[in-house]
Amino acid sequence: MQLCNENIESVYVMPGFLNFEHDCLTILRRSMIAVAPEEGCALLLGNQKNSAIFPKKIIWNVSLIWPCCNAWEPGFFNLDHRSICLSLGSEQKLTRENRFALDPREQLLAQRWARANNLEIIGTAHSHPEGDAYVSDTDLRWGMSPGLMVIVAKNQLVRAWWKNDSQSNQLQPVQLAHSS
Ligand SMILES: [Zn+2]
Repeated sequence: MQLCNENIESVYVMPGFLNFEHDCLTILRRSMIAVAPEEGCALLLGNQKNSAIFPKKIIWNVSLIWPCCNAWEPGFFNLDHRSICLSLGSEQKLTRENRFALDPREQLLAQRWARANNLEIIGTAHSHPEGDAYVSDTDLRWGMSPGLMVIVAKNQLVRAWWKNDSQSNQLQPVQLAHSS
């Protein structure tokens, strides 16, 4: 994942739970299926609230899925594409089928819309059309940004992950309030 951090307020601590309101989970899955075999990506818009059941936990509510075009292409992040391909230790070619990028302009647009509607961008989502819902080596090597990242697997299973800071690659699973 690559998130344009200067555009996203990172004032959060790890969510206690992640809750998809309304039919957000269905919309997320369908928007990812729609672009398969390429990886799909989306921004998660919502807000935080205190849990009524667990007072010390903060629930992050996703109330709107903002599907994005996968803007990945070699050189998107001005990184040395070839050296990273080699560092993956294989002949793996990075394409939109195993890599995604969010367009910073789309993030800005979503952020403006979110603010106007009393929401915030609380994380990102992307799919692994041929894989599981765990953070991949490719995600890590291309500089996964701190914060919340949701992954939709080939079998439509959804998992959420939290990364504390940009220095480490330590990830913590985030519990979904409703697993469906
Ligand atoms: Zn990934």
